[in-house]
Amino acid sequence: MSIKTRFAPSPTGYLHVGGARTALFSWLHARKHGGKYVLRIEDTDLQRSTAESINAILEAMTWLGLDYDEGPFYQTSRFDRYNEVIDELLQQNLAYRCNCSRERLEALREGQMQRKQKPRYDGHCRNQSVDAGEPHVIRFRNPPEGSVVIDDQVRGKIVFQNDELDDLIIRRTDGSPTYNLTVVVDDLDMGITDVIRGDDHVNNTPRQVNILKALGKEPPRYAHVPMILGDDGSRLSKRHGAVNVMEYRNQGILPEALLNYLVRLGWSHGDEELFTLDQMVEYFDIRDVNKAASAFNTEKLLWINQHYIKNADPARIARLLSPHLGDLGIDPATGPDLVEVVREQQERARTLVEMAEISTFFYQDYEDFEVKAARKHLKLVAREPLQQVRERLAVLDDWEADKLHQVVIDVATRLDLNMGKVAQPLRVAVVGRAASPGIDATLKLVGRSACLRRIDRALVYINNRANENAT
Ligand code: GLU
Repeated sequence: MSIKTRFAPSPTGYLHVGGARTALFSWLHARKHGGKYVLRIEDTDLQRSTAESINAILEAMTWLGLDYDEGPFYQTSRFDRYNEVIDELLQQNLAYRCNCSRERLEALREGQMQRKQKPRYDGHCRNQSVDAGEPHVIRFRNPPEGSVVIDDQVRGKIVFQNDELDDLIIRRTDGSPTYNLTVVVDDLDMGITDVIRGDDHVNNTPRQVNILKALGKEPPRYAHVPMILGDDGSRLSKRHGAVNVMEYRNQGILPEALLNYLVRLGWSHGDEELFTLDQMVEYFDIRDVNKAASAFNTEKLLWINQHYIKNADPARIARLLSPHLGDLGIDPATGPDLVEVVREQQERARTLVEMAEISTFFYQDYEDFEVKAARKHLKLVAREPLQQVRERLAVLDDWEADKLHQVVIDVATRLDLNMGKVAQPLRVAVVGRAASPGIDATLKLVGRSACLRRIDRALVYINNRANENAT
């Protein structure tokens, strides 16, 4: 039987990184086995589901490249089908109407709590005949005895006793079906063979299995994947940093880096850290996913991201970098070819945001020198080399890297200085800070007029400083 998995988010917010990891595991499992991957939007909670969330989830899936073969299916368009199944259960006496009042249920609950019992429905309406015309919910008649055994692909064998489960509501008073019912009907109708989801759903599984059995169907295989923790061991949340997948894009993370990072959270293949998508598909085995929760480690994500930035096609990085420069008020069309800039910066940034930040000087004059760099390198001894470089740059025939390099060498030789004593003040003059790509590439891309203007500014700085010291 061919494999079919699904990702079934509830659109009540953005796509959380934990959800993205579940989506990825499900996707990998389908792809690995040449199966199909379904996207299902579980939007039956009309109060909390929003169109914005649906769009945010779809956008995140597209950004991550987790393509689906079927869907998106929307549960809200399947109410007729859910009702059909509920009616079938009713007819077969596998479900019943319940008109217990809120007061009764609350009193029941309080009594149970006082007796330190688990709050559960006591089956009061099981054998009553409640009129269909009066307000009621529908409850599933859970088997009173026996157990449900789940051979979870991640957690191993899990046994639930039926007498621990109560008769759950499958249709509310307002006629809307509940989560456990809709999931069962959908997984069945969509032919899902493997349910891979967060382990917060593990306690729903025996209920779903019982409904499936009542319908005379075989349950799918289950795999409940553990949650992601923050670095302090508590459940990953906003206070640990970004939890919204799209926030990672905004922070300049590449989707392949996030996927690579997420796959390693709770899954490993030897001690390898870097996996292309193809390698993930090849090596991934849902049964190798760890039972224990894993902790999010931002430093590692940045390390992986740096690897992917370094090795990516510069033209693609340029395309992705452009909006980040835009965020800094820079239009890359106003300066050197962005692809050339990327080639020079690719090894130097862990994120695209960082790359944008260290590339602004290619497009606009820096606001001020970095204090430390200026103090260290723009001293009186740097005046002569800077002046000489400036004179030569002003008349250089070809503004090319090798020619620019030669200028620095010539001035250093003439003044009997090592190259760094010329190049470093020159760098601080041209870029305003102590770090930049190689000096020749930097000069070339910054361009002649900006270089000359900025060297003049550095000379003014040096002179002012000398004057201050003299007085
Ligand atoms: N809609 C559920 C959620 O977002 C997932 C249900 C499932 O995977 O069975 O938590």
